[in-house]
Formats: sequence, structure tokens, C-alpha cells
Amino acid sequence: MTGTQPKPTTTDAGIPVASDEHSLTVSPDGPILLQDHYLIEQMAQFNRERIPERQPHAKGGGAFGRFEVTNDVSAYTKAAVFQPNTTTDMLIRFSTVAGERGSPDTWRDPRGFAVKFYTTEGNYDMVGNNTPVFFVRDPMKFQHFIRSQKRRADTNLRDNDMQWDFWTLSPESAHQVTWLMGDRGIPKTWRNMNGYSSHTYMWVNAAGEKFWVKYHFKTDQGIDFLTQEEADRLAGVDGDYHTRDLYQAIERGEYPSWTLKMQIMPFEDAKTYRFNPFDLTKVWPHSDYPPIEVGRMTLDRNPTDYHTEIEQAAFQPNNLVPGIGPSPDKMLLARLFAYADAHRARIGTNYQQIPVNTPKVPVHSYSKDGAMRYHNVTDPVYAPNSKGGPQADTARYGEPAGWYTSGEMVHAAYTLHAEDDDWGQPGTLVRKVLDDAARERLVSNIVGHLLKGVTEPVLQRAFEYWRHVDKDLGDRVEQGVRAGQS
Ligand code: NDP
Repeated sequence: MTGTQPKPTTTDAGIPVASDEHSLTVSPDGPILLQDHYLIEQMAQFNRERIPERQPHAKGGGAFGRFEVTNDVSAYTKAAVFQPNTTTDMLIRFSTVAGERGSPDTWRDPRGFAVKFYTTEGNYDMVGNNTPVFFVRDPMKFQHFIRSQKRRADTNLRDNDMQWDFWTLSPESAHQVTWLMGDRGIPKTWRNMNGYSSHTYMWVNAAGEKFWVKYHFKTDQGIDFLTQEEADRLAGVDGDYHTRDLYQAIERGEYPSWTLKMQIMPFEDAKTYRFNPFDLTKVWPHSDYPPIEVGRMTLDRNPTDYHTEIEQAAFQPNNLVPGIGPSPDKMLLARLFAYADAHRARIGTNYQQIPVNTPKVPVHSYSKDGAMRYHNVTDPVYAPNSKGGPQADTARYGEPAGWYTSGEMVHAAYTLHAEDDDWGQPGTLVRKVLDDAARERLVSNIVGHLLKGVTEPVLQRAFEYWRHVDKDLGDRVEQGVRAGQS
């Protein structure tokens, strides 16, 4: 006999099993016996293999890697992860937004760009996208927005009429929809797209000085995209095109990387800046705040078990480490609650004890018990105590990364800054960033989308929506749709 013997199959309790192929029966043709506990374990476990899929961002893939700091930004943040000569292990998950777990990777959609840094000060997560802006700026509308992109109640079908109905009644969506209908709305691969924090965050340096910041992970592979026709074809022949591409590139040793650049705004600028710097539908023009290099993220390790390492990966933007804080962006403030809540509902209250979510520093929390708790809880289980339990280091960590605020309680839109409107920045994108060929593809993509089931009153609003972005664009969209209808 050559080679090593295979390991004997066991039950989940480690008991050797009798057969991988035959259940226990009374005679070869007889009934199956209830005491075949291995068969029952196999069937019962199989029935429970799926956990609820994410709502949204259900379809995705990911990899592990590292972040290396290449520039000294200690003047802006004291966060250990961004100090000179620091390298930090990372996890990233890319995803589409609206599709379910088995949906094609190449549908037109923003892509999730969620990163977890396993820092020496605990896990730092950023739940970014491959776009610098978003469809809405108030979390009250987020749930409605996502429902409008998913499935109808009656037909269980996605419905372009529903999507355009929501968008055209929500003019703040215009910047993101322009971006989505353009070339970057279908990246060639996940390796060929940028990642953005989209939100504004706060950085705080060792002296306590505060800055407003935006993150830009710029692809070192170069931006590339699929045309609508290429994406439609791939959706049919290889629904997992992006997942496969990332996995195979890493297997080949072609490790994709991104250079992190930051836009940094002095704290006091926010009040008088020409745009509301916390409005998630706006960018900060590069000419106002030029991006500053921080470091490089490289992905060099594939997961070996998709379920435990990617499906159960839990990213939450409230995981902010000392030196990094939130901003008054209302969408961000709501997400600080929503993500952790989603993980508790989807995975279970002790989801942070799953290895992929476990920080690489000791945990001394007072959380206790709950379903599937893995790590032992030790006494004392309360604070304050005189029994040697953990104590918050308020002198060192007590100062919040915050800002002064006061006023009446209201349900109201943000106060407008000098140049705030819903159409200006998407108009700049169309007129100043896109070239003629890209504008042509933009018109074609919008027309194709509108021709799929959008009803007349909504169509009228869509033409006006695009005329607000750019008069010529709106006229061309209307002409294209009318020509397509005839
Ligand atoms: P800039 O000329 O300095 O920047 C334009 C940016 O547009 C580029 O740097 C690139 O971002 C991005 N871009 C290029 N092609 C496309 C495309 N086909 N679809 C979407 N984005 C593209 O001008 P501003 O900073 O004044 O921005 C002008 C407009 O560019 C904005 O209104 C916004 O729509 C868009 N934009 C701006 C970004 C920003 O952070 N300022 C980021 C992305 C888009 P990148 O370098 O990130 O690849």
C-alpha cells in the first residue's frame, strides 16, 4: 500500500461512522432506521447550511491581504494603523447591491468595497463603495431606496418603473444615477475599480486637532469597465465572473493592490465650504482638497472556506479606532447602528467571536452569554467592581472624536451651503469629465434602461431629471426613448 490512509469520517461529535454511502436499513431493501444518527445529522445539518443573505449586498466575494503605510500622515491622525512603517492585516469583501446571492456579478449596480483592518487598537472597518457618492442623503429614505431596487410584492420581479419612480422623485439621487449609468456602473473586474469611503469621517491627531477626511482607494490595476452588451453576455455565460477573476488572479500570484489617498479638510473649513461636506450625494472636488497618499493595500490570500470567512464576515462602520471618528453625515450616523444590528439578526449576537471577525488584540468586554457564545466569560461580570475586572482608561480614551452642536429638534433637510443643489455635480461629471464616447454610452445605457418597462408618467419625469443634469443629455435621452418606442 502506498501513500497515507485517508482520515476516517466521523460525526460532528468525532465518532467514527460506518459508511459514507449507505444508510442503516433492515435488510438491503428494508426501511431506514431512526437510530442512523449519522444520516440524520447529515440531513439536519444540510437543512441548516444557509444563513440569511445580506439585505442588501448579498452577492460578493473577498480576500485577505495587508495595508502598508507609505507616507507620514501622523500630523492628521494618531490611529496606529496609519502611523509610519506600519503594516496591518486586512480583509476585503466586494459585492453588488441589489442582486441576491446567486445573481450575476455583471449587473449594473454600485459595488460594495468593505474593508476590515485588524489593527493593534482593535478592528477598524470601513464599509465603502466603488463610487464616491450615494443615492440618498437621509437614512429615512434608505430602506425605501433599496426596496425600489429589489423585487415587487406582486410579481416578485425587479422593476425599472419602480426604480425610476423612486429616483425621479428623489432628485438627490441624480449624481449617483449619472455615475451608475456611466462606464463605471459595470467594472470590468473588482480589481479594476476604485473604493471610496463616500462618507466623510473625522481624523484626530496626537495633539487633539481634528480634520474632516474622505478615503479614496485607487486601483493600481487601472480603471476598466464592461459595456452593457459585454456585461449582458457575461451574465448569461458566467454569472460569477468577478468572483472567479479575483480568486484566479490571487491563485496566479497576481496580487491586486490599491493606493489609499485621503482628502483632508481642516475642521473649521466645513462651516463655510461651498458644498455641505457631509452630504453623501456630493464629492469634494480634487482641486479644493487634493488627495494625499497614505499607503497601499495588497490582496494576497484567498479564503479557503467561503462561508466562514466571507459569508460570515461582518463589517460595521461603528468599528472606529482611536484617532478616527464619525462626521455629521446622517447616513453614516445611521449606519453606525444598522450594520451591527444586521449582523446580530443575520449571524447571531456573538458574531464577533467567529474567527474572521475576531480582533487580533485581547478583548476585555463586559458582554455576556447569548446564543453560540464561544469564549468563556470570567468574573466579575459587572462594572464598576473591586474584583480586578477591566476598567475604562478614560484619561486616555475619554475624549470623543466629536463636534459641538445645539438646536431645536426638527425633521428637516441639511442647511444649504452656497453651491448646494442636486444637479450641479452630476452636470460637471457629464460635461467636464466624460468625453464624447463616454457621453454616448451614457445616453445609450439610460435609454436602454428606460425602455425596459418604465411607464409614461415616470418617463416624463425621467426626461426632466436628465435635462436638469444637462439639457443636451435630457434631450438625447428623450429622443432615444421615443425612437426606441416607435
Ligand atoms: P477632477 O477633474 O479633479 O476629477 C474628476 C474625477 O472623476 C477623476 O479624478 C475620476 O475620479 C473621476 N472619473 C473619471 N471618469 C469617470 C467616469 N467615467 N465616471 C465617474 N467618475 C469618473 O474633478 P472634480 O474633483 O471637480 O470632480 C468632477 C466630477 O468628477 C464630480 O462632480 C464627480 O461627479 C466626479 N468624481 C469626483 C471625485 C472626487 O472625489 N472629487 C471622485 C470620482 C468622481 P478618480 O480619480 O477617483 O478615479
